[in-house]
Amino acid sequence: MNILIVDDAPEVRIILKKTLENQGHTVTTANDGEEAWALFSSTRAFQIVISDWMMPKLDGLGLCKRIRQETNSKYTYIILLTGMSGKTNLISGIAAGADDFATKPINSEELEVRLRSAKRILDLEKSLAKQNEALELANNKLQSMATTDGLTGLYNRRAFQENLEESLLFSRRSNQAISLLLIDVDLFKSFNDTYGHIKGDTALKTVASVLKKSSRNSDFVARFGGEEFSVILPNTDKQGAMHCAEELRRAIEAAEWPDRKVTISIGATTVKYEQLKAEVTTEVPTEVITKVLNEADQALYQAKETGRNSACHFIA
Ligand code: GH3
Ligand code: MG
Ligand code: MG
Repeated sequence: MNILIVDDAPEVRIILKKTLENQGHTVTTANDGEEAWALFSSTRAFQIVISDWMMPKLDGLGLCKRIRQETNSKYTYIILLTGMSGKTNLISGIAAGADDFATKPINSEELEVRLRSAKRILDLEKSLAKQNEALELANNKLQSMATTDGLTGLYNRRAFQENLEESLLFSRRSNQAISLLLIDVDLFKSFNDTYGHIKGDTALKTVASVLKKSSRNSDFVARFGGEEFSVILPNTDKQGAMHCAEELRRAIEAAEWPDRKVTISIGATTVKYEQLKAEVTTEVPTEVITKVLNEADQALYQAKETGRNSACHFIA
């Protein structure tokens, strides 16, 4: 193991270094806490620090506290060496974060035993860190699975709902308009009937990727369900919403379609701060969400009525 020995007495340093090296460890020495801290913080290479308690400049307790406070990397096992005895010392040592204590002079056998238990703790710590890392990865994956649509890779309905609520709250705080687009693929039943479900799925994936590519980074593009998509447009008024809707409509129409041209109809609605002011506090009431979705849905209906492949804004 890589060990740092800290003691202001040169003879202690020499004896300890020799003993530990004979036991197969790699050893570095420091004359006091300050020097030890400089070595420790610049290299972060030591698994074990064996430090004298009483030293000039920074003492063993101080060094111990610094290591515990400022280390955010791997765990360091700290053994404090002392010539003193008594409960008070032990308590302040433990409070400072020491793992073990040894009284000087310390012989080779005792050191070996203490280092064995240090290794056990460090090994446990290492496997715990590994498990935590795996757990964090699994959590991230779960989180992403819970918010991602399996077919298209866009956000799913649940993520959409959450983002809509957050966006409405943000628009209220920032006094900005927010718009919502509901998008429905035109005559998609007949697409499936003619080319089959598999090609239908491929077409939906293409719709998704074109929508994503043609939106701004700040827009939230989701699969609403089936052949329906939705885009949340933060800080966007009616005019901006219709501009975005038209861009998306054109992008889908102009995309490459190997089987049959696919088009979309879009319903847009815009929510203003004044409208939400009285209704929203720290949560968005379900009625507000329902109202916004209904408005976009009505506008979408209009777009279908006007012959599809078009975009309409909700008119109150
Ligand atoms: P309209 O222009 O009025 O929207 O006509 P439409 O045919 O698109 O409307 P309708 O709601 O009747 O049909 C929607 C179709 O979308 C029916 C359904 O099979 C298809 N669909 C929904 N989800 C999926 C999917 O995940 N994969 C595939 N391939 N088809 C889907
Ligand atoms: Mg539909
Ligand atoms: Mg449809």
